[in-house]
Amino acid sequence: MDTKYDVVIVGSGVAGLFCALSLPQDKKILCISKDALEGCDSFLAQGGICMLRDDDDYDAYFEDTMRAGHYENRKESVEIMIKSSQDVIGDLVEFGVEFEKKDGQFVFTKEGAHSNNRILFHADITGKEITSKLLARAKERENITLMAHTTMVDWVCQDNVCYGIVVADMDGKTTAIQADVTVLACGGLGGVYQHSTNYRHISGDALALAMYHNVRLENCDYVQIHPTTLYTKQGGRSFLISESVRGEGAVLRDKDGNRFTDELQPRDVVSKAIFDKMKEQGTDHVWLDFSPIPKEEILNHFPNIYQRCKEAGYDPLTDYVPVVPAQHYFMGGIYVDKDSKTTMEQLYAVGETSCNGVHGRNRLASNSLLESLVFAKRAAHDIANTDSFKKPVDFDNLVNMDGYEDLPSIMEYYHAMVMGEIEKEEKLRAAKEAI
Ligand SMILES: Cc1cc2nc3c(=O)[nH]c(=O)nc-3n(C[C@H](O)[C@H](O)[C@H](O)COP(=O)(O)OP(=O)(O)OC[C@H]3O[C@@H](n4cnc5c(N)ncnc54)[C@H](O)[C@@H]3O)c2cc1C
Repeated sequence: MDTKYDVVIVGSGVAGLFCALSLPQDKKILCISKDALEGCDSFLAQGGICMLRDDDDYDAYFEDTMRAGHYENRKESVEIMIKSSQDVIGDLVEFGVEFEKKDGQFVFTKEGAHSNNRILFHADITGKEITSKLLARAKERENITLMAHTTMVDWVCQDNVCYGIVVADMDGKTTAIQADVTVLACGGLGGVYQHSTNYRHISGDALALAMYHNVRLENCDYVQIHPTTLYTKQGGRSFLISESVRGEGAVLRDKDGNRFTDELQPRDVVSKAIFDKMKEQGTDHVWLDFSPIPKEEILNHFPNIYQRCKEAGYDPLTDYVPVVPAQHYFMGGIYVDKDSKTTMEQLYAVGETSCNGVHGRNRLASNSLLESLVFAKRAAHDIANTDSFKKPVDFDNLVNMDGYEDLPSIMEYYHAMVMGEIEKEEKLRAAKEAI
């Protein structure tokens, strides 16, 4: 295994792959994934990706993002994201990504808390369409090495400069990899929750390492709960029923069949309404009624959701479908500036792992794929424009490889650190807000 690269990227979701593809082709890049290369939440995204349709929609799009984020968003980041959206969608199209079109023009859909239709989609598998095309392009590039089932277990750093990472293969064999730049694109933290729409292995490892190495985090208690995941008695990853189903007209009903909330409010508000209703009626779920959506629309726009509901024993064309809120997205993360730089030199963070402030306290639907892409590209440009990097005096002596023998315990410890930080932040914020 080669152990020296210009850039090492941890994560093969949209953020990691787009960063790799946006870097100059003379950079030697390693991109790793803890699971299969396809084992990332990016592949699961259903609803779509936002794009500024025209200048007339700018103010409304900005306001919708801010309102959903309770006005705690970093305005500069929101502005960058919206203004870069057409450019990034153009890149995706060049990479071969296809979005729904009619008469040669993009078709835009809507989701909760959007005042206009501004979401591009590819049936209900938009994430798979985008990420599989990016992965295919990355495989074609000679300068990019993709490595699956390779887990980052530590960083190699000294005096607040990152010089690479320690990885473990499936047999637990560890290797130190040296790189001028390390990019964390490790996704969210759903794996530390009992009920989550995320893959179980996506569990905030980079956040634990940031805590361990004194890198700044931000808003670790800002965890989004998605209002509508398919309720089943089995455990494992919760299946999401996209917000665009409600955007197209589906309504929520309580155990008596009564509608009890406006389904298109921001996610945190809808989730609270559902939890309150479940508590009031002593139920484990509420119902989603697809009947306001025309049959053709259900079958053509939501074929995957339709199929999964049927497999669980509910036909959306004739039955109410049981739904329950579950952990879905992480708005907080490793603090980064507008170029995705963390507070450690030569260490960047992009995608859901990072917090550039776009989402504030709560994410607007379909902003996360876009945010991941825009700020991954900015990281790549910043790296490309950096003239020189610090080199370690003696890389091999910076890390004690004997310290990683008991990997399961180390990873368990990381998960406990992440959960502990979320709970601590929640308590601190509640105390501050009570004053
Ligand atoms: C069910 C679902 C539906 C969604 N729908 C939408 C939508 O419609 N629109 C939208 O904008 N967003 C949506 N999202 C959110 C969006 O998909 C994610 O925010 C986005 O894909 C995150 O991309 P990422 O590249 O940051 O991380 P991911 O795609 O999650 O990739 C993380 C990568 O990091 C790797 N990794 C993690 N830890 C380690 C480690 N220690 N060592 C090595 N590798 C590691 C993983 O293996 C993986 O390759 C949805 C999310 C889910 C779960």
